[in-house]
Amino acid sequence: MANALVFIDNPGASLKKSSLELLTLARQLGETAVAVNGELNDDAAATLGAYGVTAVYQPSSNDLGDYLVGPKAAYLAAAVAASGATRVLLENSPEGKEIAGRLGIKLSAGVITDVVGVEADGTAHKSVLAGSYNTSAKATTPVAVLTVKANLIEPQPADTATTPEVAKVEVPADATAAAARISSREAKPASGRPDLSEARIVVAGGRGVDGDFGPLEELADVLGAAVGASRAATDAGWIGHDAQVGQTGVTVSPQLYISAGISGAIQQKAGMQTSKVIVAINKDAESPVFEIADFGIVGDLFKVLPQATAEIKKR
Ligand code: FAD
Repeated sequence: MANALVFIDNPGASLKKSSLELLTLARQLGETAVAVNGELNDDAAATLGAYGVTAVYQPSSNDLGDYLVGPKAAYLAAAVAASGATRVLLENSPEGKEIAGRLGIKLSAGVITDVVGVEADGTAHKSVLAGSYNTSAKATTPVAVLTVKANLIEPQPADTATTPEVAKVEVPADATAAAARISSREAKPASGRPDLSEARIVVAGGRGVDGDFGPLEELADVLGAAVGASRAATDAGWIGHDAQVGQTGVTVSPQLYISAGISGAIQQKAGMQTSKVIVAINKDAESPVFEIADFGIVGDLFKVLPQATAEIKKR
């Protein structure tokens, strides 16, 4: 019987950093099982063992990938029953939260979102009001469902590796009967840049870029960085919404966050304030972004960024 069950959707060729973070946190709750949706190759299976996972569950049909969240919640409910876990951990993504809500209803379980840490007794620490406060919460129900914010926990393999048992879980037939299914997917043109939520360096732009992300992209390319944005920039249509960093966007925690033409509103800070080093470029010396910056440059981003790119290219 496991104490914690981690949901990993589409594990891919190698597990995402966010999945490793969930596995690291789950171990603090005791024996950990994983419910996988999608193909699990040998490398990913070995990683689960390295993280101390004792049991891996897969849907019997192996066919949930094209469905939206409903069948995934039904599958997870069945995996909870099979594993005996009392804590279920998912990503704090919009989809993770929706699955968590549906699972909570199915299991009459308490749901705690925006989790940033958890104690062995199940007390969860959560971030509220755009990261301004941390609070603690503990579900009083037998099973609790937790969605965990990304990039706040350092992935740590277990001291002793395991060989997880693999078992199939029967997904109730009615779970997929009337469920919406994805009919086609459109691949985004590959940028060659790292995934925003997992990048070690992020170059982010706001309203100050005035529609031109070119200088940011050039700097990102010489640094091997991802490009992020404030909501002002994504709302203006200058860059896709998937680049939005902040309370209602992606949470990042890179080694280096370069903020250009962003004022540093509380909702933007919520998604990047745990970055190890923050460099802010803003032409307004009074901008609140300088309150959280480790290094501040008062200047025009269209002059500062090309200089930085040229200087780095020389090295
Ligand atoms: P502004 O506040 O307009 O700042 C632009 C900055 O650029 C200014 O400081 C200016 O001095 C500087 N600038 C202008 N030209 C240049 C130049 N040439 N060189 C250098 N600097 C220049 N925001 C997010 O970012 N992420 C979120 O997830 C998010 N979620 C939200 C959720 C809710 C419920 C709400 C209400 C708001 C949310 N917002 C979010 C919006 C947030 O409140 C701010 O409005 C937004 O972050 C401002 O974006 P900005 O800093 O790019 O623009």
